[in-house]
Amino acid sequence: MTTYTSYDLVEFGQPLVARQRPMPEPAGTEVLLRVRRSGVCHSDLHIAEGYFDLGEEGKLRMADRGMKLPMALGHEILGEVIAAGPEAWPDSGDTLIGQTMLVHPWIGCGDCRACNAGDENECTRMRALGVIRDGGYATHVLIDHPKFLVDVEGLDLDTVTPYSCSGVTVYNALKKVGQLHQGEWLAVMGAGGLGLNAVGIARALGFERIVSIDIDQRKLQAAAEMGADAVLDGSREDALEELRRITGNQLLGVVDTVGAPSTSRLAIHALIKMGRYVVVGLYGGDLKMPLPWLAQKYLTIRGSYVGSCRDLRELIELVKAGKIKEIPVSSRPLGEVSRTLDDLKAGKITGRVVLNAD
Ligand SMILES: [Zn+2]
Ligand SMILES: [Zn+2]
Repeated sequence: MTTYTSYDLVEFGQPLVARQRPMPEPAGTEVLLRVRRSGVCHSDLHIAEGYFDLGEEGKLRMADRGMKLPMALGHEILGEVIAAGPEAWPDSGDTLIGQTMLVHPWIGCGDCRACNAGDENECTRMRALGVIRDGGYATHVLIDHPKFLVDVEGLDLDTVTPYSCSGVTVYNALKKVGQLHQGEWLAVMGAGGLGLNAVGIARALGFERIVSIDIDQRKLQAAAEMGADAVLDGSREDALEELRRITGNQLLGVVDTVGAPSTSRLAIHALIKMGRYVVVGLYGGDLKMPLPWLAQKYLTIRGSYVGSCRDLRELIELVKAGKIKEIPVSSRPLGEVSRTLDDLKAGKITGRVVLNAD
């Protein structure tokens, strides 16, 4: 029997375990990929721990979200198509066998209003790869349908991989912030993989004044190199006053890639009238704010979660057009996935680590 190697979460809170699994046989429209690159995302830490912190509401447990172990995590996946089920390709005979493609991992139920409209990320019964179904911390991965594969020909394999989560997540969030007027500022909370991509993508989308906020000087340095006009150490006691000073009290948009009580507090206080606060980070805790501000400041508070396959294709077109500065990416062998998760947890990684499975 042919097998493949999968780095599985076997028990919540424990390191991943390398296991041999039988090679899947693609059925129907399924396609089998040989994984070439796999990005290591911060949300894998929460998933591996087994829960999200809901503040006063307790915990959101992955087991209650339908996650069953063992599971191969990893949702930033790039791979070569090596096999497909009999219904995978149109009758014209064109196939993607042999091609290296980026995977859109945010797959829905396939049979609801959102899924039928191509908005699988809005599906209430998502079956995301690396969460509900086996993901990319493995040598092989099975994908539902070739429509979730995105062409990345000519692009660097390491740097293109994180666009399928960190890139598309902030791209979608920035679209929700919408256009700002001349002189108005956008703040990006957090300068990790998502935050750095947010700076680069915001630049490409025409945001003119961008301030990056983090508590780590190395990450702020990386944000400046990505094109942020200003950076701010969010741990400063006078961070709010400083943010008002930097923006000339013209902060109209915030993308929060952290999603912690401290970042939400800074955002809500610093945003002026008509401000838009879009949260994508899943750090956890409670949002507390004076309710009258919602009305008096015309505030918009929105959540956003990953993006659609359409968003990912749009984003990759911007990348192909050379419009987006690439975040720093370092490469490690696939077998170092557990160590990489540890380093990520310890805050030791600037940019993204992309595992190489070639
Ligand atoms: Zn992710
Ligand atoms: Zn659905």
